[in-house]
Amino acid sequence: MRNIVILTGAGISAESGLQTFRAADGLWEGHRVEDVATPEAFARDPELVHDFYDARRARLGEVMPNAAHVALARLDAEWAGQLLIVTQNVDDLHERAGAKRLLHMHGELLRGWCVACDARFGWAGAMGEGATCLHCHSPGKVRPDIVWFGEMPYEMDRIDAALMNADLFVSIGTSGAVYPAAGFVQTATYRGARTLEINLEPSQGSIFFDERRYGPASEEVPKWVEEVLVAKEPLKPPPI
Ligand SMILES: [Zn+2]
Repeated sequence: MRNIVILTGAGISAESGLQTFRAADGLWEGHRVEDVATPEAFARDPELVHDFYDARRARLGEVMPNAAHVALARLDAEWAGQLLIVTQNVDDLHERAGAKRLLHMHGELLRGWCVACDARFGWAGAMGEGATCLHCHSPGKVRPDIVWFGEMPYEMDRIDAALMNADLFVSIGTSGAVYPAAGFVQTATYRGARTLEINLEPSQGSIFFDERRYGPASEEVPKWVEEVLVAKEPLKPPPI
């Protein structure tokens, strides 16, 4: 086993105290998804949408990575084979734990996107309706660099390529309800990878996984990472 692809979702951030969208009731921090997480909502009421994401961005300063984020960062640092952490989360907890081989398929709270010049850039603090682009200096054209419902997730080509080469695919804290991420397990299986689900409870796609472990990510992920690092194959051939 050399190449690992890990998908993380809301369940891993929830243990740090971040609420995310719950498919079960269609609400995110009390808001309907249609009101805050679609391009149509932003066109209709940009102030409401900015307020919502400004609040989510501010909340990042009140939370910390948990043991699951730390364990994945350790795996990233110590695993000599290929590894890619694909997160559906828009927070920065993987980065703050130290993960490097990381891809945010649904965008990031700490980035802005100028719809006038198409530039993307880091953004701390409130954005609001009057935000000025750091590149073309247009006012009022910067939106959160978040993939909203109805928009295409980022870097699908790179994710597909990683899944094609994966020996192991691990899904952590995801509902298995939101496509295209919900289909990654089938892509990985089709290409011959082993698959593992770690979640608080069986996800909607749990039957597609070879192995399933249920419990808090902050307990199950460190245990799994320890097993992987202890069992790892020799990274280089022994000297002759
Ligand atoms: Zn611009």
